[in-house]
Amino acid sequence: MTAVAQHKNVLDIEKIRKDFPILSRKVNGKPLVYFDNGASSQKPQSVIDATNKYYSYENANIHRGVHTLSQEATSAYEVVREKVRAFINADKSHEIIFTKGTTDSINLVAFSFGRTHINEGDEVLISAMEHHSNIVPWQMLCVEKKAKLKVIPINDDGELMMDEYKKLLSKKTKIVAVTHISNSLGTVNPVKEIIAAAHEKGIPVLIDGAQAIHHTTVDVKDLDCDFYSFSAHKMYGPTGVGVLYGKEELLNSIPPYQGGGDMIKTVTFEKTTYNELPHKFEAGTPNIAGGIAFGAAIDYINSIGIETIAAYEHELTEYALQQLNTVPGIKFIGKAKERASVISFLLDNIHPYDAGVILDKMGIAVRTGHHCTQPLMDRFKISGTVRASFSFYNTKEEVDVLVKGLHKVIDMFK
Ligand code: PLP
Repeated sequence: MTAVAQHKNVLDIEKIRKDFPILSRKVNGKPLVYFDNGASSQKPQSVIDATNKYYSYENANIHRGVHTLSQEATSAYEVVREKVRAFINADKSHEIIFTKGTTDSINLVAFSFGRTHINEGDEVLISAMEHHSNIVPWQMLCVEKKAKLKVIPINDDGELMMDEYKKLLSKKTKIVAVTHISNSLGTVNPVKEIIAAAHEKGIPVLIDGAQAIHHTTVDVKDLDCDFYSFSAHKMYGPTGVGVLYGKEELLNSIPPYQGGGDMIKTVTFEKTTYNELPHKFEAGTPNIAGGIAFGAAIDYINSIGIETIAAYEHELTEYALQQLNTVPGIKFIGKAKERASVISFLLDNIHPYDAGVILDKMGIAVRTGHHCTQPLMDRFKISGTVRASFSFYNTKEEVDVLVKGLHKVIDMFK
């Protein structure tokens, strides 16, 4: 049984933690303190069980078989599409394209939309805080098409400079692609305002929701975004599964990303006609087990409630910021007013890698390095940070363990 909120905004964390088997293991002889949720979250038993159940009882390929197993697997998989639709409040379930993850979703848009709509001299507008997944596909496209990659600058607190953004929007801009929440700084970007400003000039917007979908309510209709991408593994689901949401009209107007089975209606050696949405963008056998387990992850989130999760994570982050502030020589990288449960910092002249290795010896998992945002690190003239990213299964006691651990790291380098 999944742990549920006792009452609004109050979580029974002890009960929740029991849903995640990995949280009770030790690392290097110490209880695991998992603060690398920004990279990937842990999985509740219900998600693990869903994977097991599929392979034990339902395993068959989908969409093509008339036999019972295939039909059962097909409906178990397709039910998840509807769950995703409801989760992000999309209009239609065929606006939900299953992909391998956020990276795959953005590549799909860069390839398919990009190759159709972006030509020599056009511009693609991204921001200075993008993950490499929302830089490199556009860069590759720009090289191919002789288009220009333009970058919205950020201030010293790690917030987008919205006036500069608006100035960068021009007739040449063919798409704006920005992250909802920065994986390195925790900044929550004003995506609704970003989308509205681009739409005033008729420019479509892709939002990279990899760090937002499990931390905040995402309503694609309210945002009015044209594309929204995210990964299941950051939302307590399996790796290798993700989503591209796209407005129906836009998805219908662009060509398939990959060719193969499932995405076709008819094939002759002379000509292929393509399947309808969403299958047009889903060539080949997908990650069926992963898709089904993703459904269990969404159920799990819903059983707690995303608003309850957001409120708890906010409180935990505020507590962590206060406690970390007591660590001598700590310097926060990213001080946005609107922020999510990601805290990046440096400790005087201690290399983030060294801090990470020592913390690991104490069972504390943090991420160190550039977090796949090298241009952002360049902006702050640093090579990387230590990043602690929290989830609703983390506790204030774990934050205290981290703070103590950091004191030890500092002592060792004295
Ligand atoms: N975008 C952001 C903001 C991310 O944080 C990540 C992963 O950390 C990605 C994109 C890429 O996600 P994935 O590796 O699941 O495709």
